[in-house]
Amino acid sequence: MNNQQLWQAILGNLEISLSRANFNTWFKNTHISDRSQDTIYVSVPSTFTKDWISQKYHQEILKAIKNLAPEIKSIKYHVGANPPIPNLNQNNQTFPENTPKPQTPYPHAGFKEIPQPNPSTQDNSGLNPKYIFESFIIGKHNELAHAASQAVSKNPGSQYNPLFIYGGVGLGKTHLMQAVGNKFLQDSPKSKILYVTSEKFTNDYIGAIQSKRTEEFKKTYRSVDMLLIDDIQFIAGKEGTQEEFFHTFNELRETGKQIILTSDRLPKDIPSIEARLISRFEWGMVADIQAPDLETRMAILRTKMAKKGVILTEEILFFIAENIITNIRELEGALNRLAIYQQMQNRALVIEQAREILSGMVQNKKKITSLKKIAQIVAEFYNLTIEDLIKQSRKKEFVKPRQIAMFLARKELNSSFPTIGEFFGGRDHTTVMHAVEKIEKNSNAELQAKQEIELIMDKLYTNT
Ligand code: ADP
Ligand code: MG
Repeated sequence: MNNQQLWQAILGNLEISLSRANFNTWFKNTHISDRSQDTIYVSVPSTFTKDWISQKYHQEILKAIKNLAPEIKSIKYHVGANPPIPNLNQNNQTFPENTPKPQTPYPHAGFKEIPQPNPSTQDNSGLNPKYIFESFIIGKHNELAHAASQAVSKNPGSQYNPLFIYGGVGLGKTHLMQAVGNKFLQDSPKSKILYVTSEKFTNDYIGAIQSKRTEEFKKTYRSVDMLLIDDIQFIAGKEGTQEEFFHTFNELRETGKQIILTSDRLPKDIPSIEARLISRFEWGMVADIQAPDLETRMAILRTKMAKKGVILTEEILFFIAENIITNIRELEGALNRLAIYQQMQNRALVIEQAREILSGMVQNKKKITSLKKIAQIVAEFYNLTIEDLIKQSRKKEFVKPRQIAMFLARKELNSSFPTIGEFFGGRDHTTVMHAVEKIEKNSNAELQAKQEIELIMDKLYTNT
């Protein structure tokens, strides 16, 4: 096996266990640059990639090599085309004796002092000074987006441009993007930075045309050192705005200014958007934020609680974390509500009170946790089996229930389109998107469809 074949085979192994975003991010532009009897030298594009791969993926790469080329005992990563001249004193990563344990970067305890935002950062950048890295809790669900944001804040305008962060509502996209902005402003207070939502960008642009001040508009947007546009998916269907954004984007990027975008979905899944924009969105780094797992939700609650100076029992925290699954904003909202009640009554809340106070928020959403549960309830409702929903049949009697199950998985679990597709018989994510859109439309337009879904929801939340 030559070097190229070996690396391809290793990547083939890794690809199976990594998400697409992760895989592309870390392994694009890597290759084996050299090989000795027992060592391979892997060229990677940046120090950041080098650190990340050697901390996170080293084990997996070793595992793959063990099967493919057992004589290789050591891997050395280096930035750039050529391996460094060997230095025996270097802290090499050797298998199996010295394999370093990947560090777990989650400050889950999270009780450390949080620095107050610097008051000088309050300016006309549009940034909210409370959205800073120090108050952003890192978990598995957001570590990629966080690492990418950190990298961008240290080195704006170079490697990951644009940075495109996508994920569901209330998962920290705005917080993270603004954290980069605030850090940048702190490090270089003279620089110009602009945070806007895509609606504001659109309105500014339309306003500029109407009042014949497009030059001014261009000057504002094209003279910044960093441009943050939040929820870019809303420029879908707005051709004029897209055109203007296209030119703004090009000019900023050509002059090495950093652009950060957020969206609720992948670039290619934004409907009615020009292909040339999609491809530009994908030029730099695309990083996702998923819903946090239970452990991370608990960590978020503990940290936010400590920050507020309230103390709720573990049982209550667990009750919140178990019931509020897909939205960090709601998690925070629940905590705030309980904190207020506790302060009012001036003694510790008990779990029954917490249940009562949050009853409106958690809506019996108690035990609904898995795709399987949804599939099972939907199948039962239509007198089918789960296999009927999964198998490759396009018979009408299966298609609709399957689409409803996909719709509920998206709505109730906030699962990603590919995850849902995977569960339902390895279907393509576009099939899932189509299903979700279709059922959404139907349930808005037809009373019967709406009632059916409500009945299924009832079953989901009461039956368990
Ligand atoms: P999005 O833009 O994805 O809808 P936001 O960034 O507005 O979400 O986050 C919603 C709320 O949750 C904000 O108050 C934010 O500070 C908080 N939040 C989200 N993720 C985190 C996190 N990882 N650590 C701390 N707070 C978070
Ligand atoms: Mg947001």
